[in-house]
Amino acid sequence: MRKHVYGPINSRRLGKSLGVDLIVPKVCPLDCIYCEARATTDLTMVRREYVDIDEVLAEIDRVLAEIPAPDYITFSGAGEPTLNSGIGQVIGHLKKFHPHNKVCLLTNGLLLKDQKLQQELAGLDMIIPSLDASNDEEYQKINRPVPGETLAKLVDGIAEFHRNHPSVFMALEMFIAPGINDSDESLSRFETLVKQISPDAIQLNTLDRPGVIADLKPAPTETMKKFAAALDRIVPVTFISNVN
Ligand code: SF4
Repeated sequence: MRKHVYGPINSRRLGKSLGVDLIVPKVCPLDCIYCEARATTDLTMVRREYVDIDEVLAEIDRVLAEIPAPDYITFSGAGEPTLNSGIGQVIGHLKKFHPHNKVCLLTNGLLLKDQKLQQELAGLDMIIPSLDASNDEEYQKINRPVPGETLAKLVDGIAEFHRNHPSVFMALEMFIAPGINDSDESLSRFETLVKQISPDAIQLNTLDRPGVIADLKPAPTETMKKFAAALDRIVPVTFISNVN
């Protein structure tokens, strides 16, 4: 029986991706309106061993011995993976005992300003942090962070991680929410933030499956293409939602 490892799933951006979930539902420093893992019940920045790391390592070893090698082993799941204080131990284990597997982290990026966490994540091959807001008003409407968290802190943390660890490929994921962050003014602010972070790539997303807020709609194709055309002048952009 599996508790912490799922898949591999066919991922549009990662190929065959074996998921590792280090969190219990639903612990996160954000409560995003588009979250597919339902509403956050424990809104926190506190890092601790939310699930037993020895159990996770044993399960990873067992699953990897049973399946063809995946393209990526990916930290994601029903909460924010970096909240688990053992994530560095898991990355170290993967690098030591499964060195041919590439390792990716999907993260909201809030904890990246933590220097200790930055060290723990140094062995990643890829990191995909999220940037969904171009100002604090949008941040509060879309991501609904832990009180006291600001967009400037988030962007500074993501940018600093990328500066300190340039060998970790960074794809910045951006979620476009119609009526909230899709105006020309938002796009212009996003261009400034993307230049500040200077990621290796951008992955543009909008709603594919129902989120926490029932009346949230996908961004129209024209909007997605407008954002892609503008941001692609800064770094390469791909779509990870259905855009025709
Ligand atoms: S950061 Fe991820 S897990 Fe947390 S609420 Fe947002 S979408 Fe859900």
